[in-house]
Amino acid sequence: MKNVIFIAPPAAGKGTCSDFLKAKFGYKHISTGDLLRNVDKESELGKEISSYINKGELVPDIIINKLLQEALDTYKGNPIILDGYPRNVKQAELLETIFDNYVAIYLDIEKETAMKRMLGRITCPKCKKTYNKYFDKFKPKNEGLCDECNSELVSRNDDTKETFDIRFDTYINNTLPLLEYYDKKDVLKKVSKDTTETDDILSSIEGFVND
Ligand code: ADP
Repeated sequence: MKNVIFIAPPAAGKGTCSDFLKAKFGYKHISTGDLLRNVDKESELGKEISSYINKGELVPDIIINKLLQEALDTYKGNPIILDGYPRNVKQAELLETIFDNYVAIYLDIEKETAMKRMLGRITCPKCKKTYNKYFDKFKPKNEGLCDECNSELVSRNDDTKETFDIRFDTYINNTLPLLEYYDKKDVLKKVSKDTTETDDILSSIEGFVND
């Protein structure tokens, strides 16, 4: 089982793909967005982190690298999904020294689709399951409540129209160059934006990690 790096624009479906890999193959999921959001918001560090996230900008490498290293240490020995890291070439170069046996999976998606998914995204604060109020397949059974634990579902502070545009630009400028970086290493796998059915996307991903 290969380790996985996801490269994708905001709201492209990394979370859904990660849930599938976790359930089917026992992957451990490291979302750097979650690591950052889990830092106590009242602490100095938490306030600094929120100021970047809420603007749609990348958090400085020095902060995220430490959190990533701790998470990798925690899950040592398990197959791992990195969701949200690396987000620039510098992070990829650092990762090379602490992570191996991986495929980099690129989820391509139209900007408009990503925006719609993002604006409809709602998450359970307790068990982290994600839903979408604009897509029937992903709606919770009871409006606004988690199917698993009945908690009230919430939207993220940075899931707004204004922030989306900045996050998308940040992605184009900083993260897209990673495609060339991983292609050169011959570890890049792509899910085309023409593959829109969730089941087809998941079966492509299953093929990539077992390759
Ligand atoms: P999405 O992929 O939907 O944009 P994430 O939850 O992965 O959402 O990330 C949310 C925010 O957290 C990003 O916009 C950025 O501010 C910050 N962030 C996450 N991962 C990184 C990273 N590797 N480097 C810098 N900032 C990061």
